[in-house]
Amino acid sequence: MTVRIGITGAAGRMGRMLAQTIFRREAHCQLTAAIERPASSLIGADVGELLGEGASGTPVGSDLAAAINGIDVLIDFTVPEATLSHAEICATHGVPMVVGTTGFTDSQAAQLQAMTRDIPLCKSANFSPGVNLAFRLAETAARALGETADIEILEAHHRQKIDAPSGTALALGDTVAAARGKKLSEVAVFSREGRTGAREPGTIGFSVIRAGDIVGDHTVIFAGDGERLEITHKASSRSAFASGAVTAACWLVEQSAGQYSMQDVLASEESDS
Ligand code: NAD
Repeated sequence: MTVRIGITGAAGRMGRMLAQTIFRREAHCQLTAAIERPASSLIGADVGELLGEGASGTPVGSDLAAAINGIDVLIDFTVPEATLSHAEICATHGVPMVVGTTGFTDSQAAQLQAMTRDIPLCKSANFSPGVNLAFRLAETAARALGETADIEILEAHHRQKIDAPSGTALALGDTVAAARGKKLSEVAVFSREGRTGAREPGTIGFSVIRAGDIVGDHTVIFAGDGERLEITHKASSRSAFASGAVTAACWLVEQSAGQYSMQDVLASEESDS
């Protein structure tokens, strides 16, 4: 079966990489809808031609509701408000959805989760296989080291990124806090300035860099007395995220309604191999 994929945010950094990944993938998937904001200057342009891949027959459109019957699954990397309105359309039409957008408020995340009663939805702050392995390594380290190590999370991204800390940094924070039996909101320290006093034991600190065209670096530091362990992932291209999201989309069309993450996709692939 050929999986018909739609992309929202098609002209964005991730949208373009997703389209290119689908064009170049040998597995049976096809780009059948590419949606952008109505104000985009690219509405009507052929997606394949935009990417230098030759005519694809798929123009950039602005109306997801009109295109929804032509897709089996939607991949959305946009902004939280747009993701929520796209999720409502998917839920109404029973179309599974892969969500890569980050920066949701708690209430937006809860609204999105409510849609998983109606459709399979795979949401991950990071679709790269390497980062998902880093989550598991960080969890193992947090469990093994317990409160003996101070945990700090560093992330660096390109100058255009609009949310901070990154969704991946927060998800890493959730993972290591949970491994210590805590909620991240109870222990997170998001800024330090001036006379801060000594480090509070058990806290998890975040540091953020925004510069140049950095695709995405994340480090979790476990610092004890006399030694420290660092788990670092560096993305050098968005292709790792795009490839993971397309794999998740092809997997998701076979699933029943519910909330999934890239960890579920990778665990299922591991058990198949
Ligand atoms: P971007 O700004 O380059 O692209 C976003 C696109 O969405 C833009 O083209 C914009 O016009 C479009 N858009 C906004 N509102 C829309 C609407 N209502 N309908 C259709 N299109 C709309 O941003 P980006 O770097 O591609 O990142 C997008 C999101 O994905 C961010 O939240 C980012 O943090 C996240 N991201 C996630 C991962 C992951 O693996 N989960 C990886 C990279 C980026």
